[in-house]
Formats: sequence, structure tokens, C-alpha cells
Amino acid sequence: MRIDYRTERYEAEVPVEAFTEDCVDVEKFVAFCRECHNHDRLWSCPEFSFDANEYWKKYSRLKLFGIKILMPEEVTAKEWTKEERGEIIEQTLWIEKQKLTEELFAMEKEYPGSISLSAGSCQVCGKDHCARIEGKPCRHPEQLRYSIEALGGDVGLTVTKYLGLELKWIEGDRIPPWFILVGGLLLP
Ligand code: SF4
Repeated sequence: MRIDYRTERYEAEVPVEAFTEDCVDVEKFVAFCRECHNHDRLWSCPEFSFDANEYWKKYSRLKLFGIKILMPEEVTAKEWTKEERGEIIEQTLWIEKQKLTEELFAMEKEYPGSISLSAGSCQVCGKDHCARIEGKPCRHPEQLRYSIEALGGDVGLTVTKYLGLELKWIEGDRIPPWFILVGGLLLP
């Protein structure tokens, strides 16, 4: 299946202190993580051996990057099976996530002392293949990055407040008109 989607890019920069004050509530969002399939199964997801509040405090500025993936009408106009929805996500969201990840890794090199925030959980080893499931250490710690939500951030509020966007979700068997990926770069 070839999907003729297009993307729009959004950026913002904010002091970390202001961001965490507005958009981070570790206790509240880790409680949602505890309901998720990935909880305690991915090294990129809670529970962590460190305090997420302290993680944010190590940095002073945050660059935010939003990729809006706009779906063509032939995708949004009909219903899809679970397998088909998975394939559509593979062909759109995961392709753009990989591109954003590579871009953020390149930026880390450009900005000494920076660390990127992943757009969602780690997928380096593939779905349901994280070493954490087997009780083993991360296989690629040099590629492991945390997402805003894993560190207690409210992604919905982040995209609205700082990028002027609105998250959309899959509803039933339908693909929404757009998906939004949100990544970041924390700077010292
Ligand atoms: S790199 Fe592999 S082992 Fe490490 S967090 Fe990601 S999926 Fe898990």
C-alpha cells in the first residue's frame, strides 16, 4: 500500500523551567503509563531507576519539534481492519518517526551536552522485543531516548500551547485526518 501523505513541520523553543511548570506532572502521567502495555516492558518507559523531575532539571532550554502527518482522503474516508490500520501506521507514522529520530540524533552532535526526546517509546529492537521483557539490560543504550510523556509530560498540552496544534486519535476503525509526532532537544 502506498500512501500519498504529506507533512508539516512546527518548532518552538522554551525554557525548561517554564515547560515543566506548564506541562509536566510526573505523578499524574506516570499513573497513565501504568495502564499501558509498555509499562515496565521497555527501558524507555516508566518505571525508571531515576527521578524524572530531576532529569528535566539537568537542562535549561527545550527545542520542540512537531511533525503533522496529513492523511489523504482515500485513507480517512473509509474504515480499515486492525491489520490495515497497522500497515497505514507503518507506512506513515513510523517512517516519519525514524526520520525525526535521525534528525534529532544529528542535532545532539551539533549541540554539545544536549539530549533528544523521542517521539514516543523506543522501537529500536522492534515491537515487543525490548530486552527489558527478558529482564536484560538495554541492547543499545546509545540509542535509548525518553519521550516527553515517559518523563511525565502532557503531550496534548505541549502541542496546543507551544505548537498551536491539536492531537487526533484513531477512532474505531477510522484513521484520523492527521497524526502528530512530537520530539525535542534538551539543551544545557
Ligand atoms: S534499544 Fe532495544 S533494549 Fe533498549 S530500550 Fe530500545 S527496544 Fe529496549
